[in-house]
This record gives sequence, structure tokens and C-alpha cells, in this order.
Amino acid sequence: MASIFTKIVVGEIPSYKIAEDERFFAFLDINPLAKGHALVIPKKEVDYLFDIDDDTLASMTLFAKRVAMAIEKTVPCKRIGVAVLGLEVPHAHIHLIPLNSEADINFANPRVKLTPDEFTSLAKEIANKF
Ligand code: AMP
Repeated sequence: MASIFTKIVVGEIPSYKIAEDERFFAFLDINPLAKGHALVIPKKEVDYLFDIDDDTLASMTLFAKRVAMAIEKTVPCKRIGVAVLGLEVPHAHIHLIPLNSEADINFANPRVKLTPDEFTSLAKEIANKF
């Protein structure tokens, strides 16, 4: 069965898209730790990040870098934190999270609530800077 993220890639379920190319897709995390929290995924479904072949993983990192820089230009923060968990969704993804302190990247934190309109305009703003 296709992962929820594959369904996002093919447009079967909606997402707040930031950017995509032939191999990768970036969108806002629906349950963000901070405003601007985004996920970068390979379009080809692979569960574990470190099962991705070297060339694709290197390119994914560079794609994530561009997304991080666009988030940084949009959301005031000290820097963008990077995390890989994959404990919930078995489709490799890199979390990009705006940070002002170490505590901001604690996944046990309460999540930020945004309205659909806020998600939409935030994704558009970041996309414009990608
Ligand atoms: P993990 O697999 O532990 O890295 O966690 C999966 C992440 O995906 C969580 O931060 C969720 O909020 C996020 N997530 C799950 N479903 C969606 C979705 N449909 N759209 C955006 N983000 C999602």
C-alpha cells in the first residue's frame, strides 16, 4: 500500500506544498513544532533514509538545503534545525524546523496550531523564496 507521503506526491491527498523537482518534494508538516516546520521527501517511496542510494541522498540533502534557506528567509529564527525520525511515517523524510533554542526541536513539545489559510500563505511565501 502506498504511504501517506506517496499519496501527497501524487496529489491523492492535499498538502501545503513548498517545492518539488523530479525526485523530491517539500511540504509543511501538518502538526508543526514551529511555524515553518517542513518535510523533505524522496518521491520514490523508501522507508529508511539511510537505505537511499548515495547519489539520491546527496541530492536530497542539497534540495533540503534550498528549502531550509527559503524557510529561513520567511520565518524569523536563529537557524534551521534538521531531524530524521521516521517513527510514525515509513517514507523517508527530513524535518526542517526553525529554531531559536535547543528546546524548539523537542518532539514531545506541544504543536503549533495554524489555520488552513495560515498554512496556505506560509507555504506560498516559502515557495516564492525557493
Ligand atoms: P516521524 O515519522 O516520526 O518523523 O513523524 C512524521 C511527521 O509527519 C510528523 O511530524 C507528522 O506531523 C507529519 N505528518 C503526518 N502526516 C502528515 C500529512 N498528511 N501532511 C503533513 N505532515 C504530516
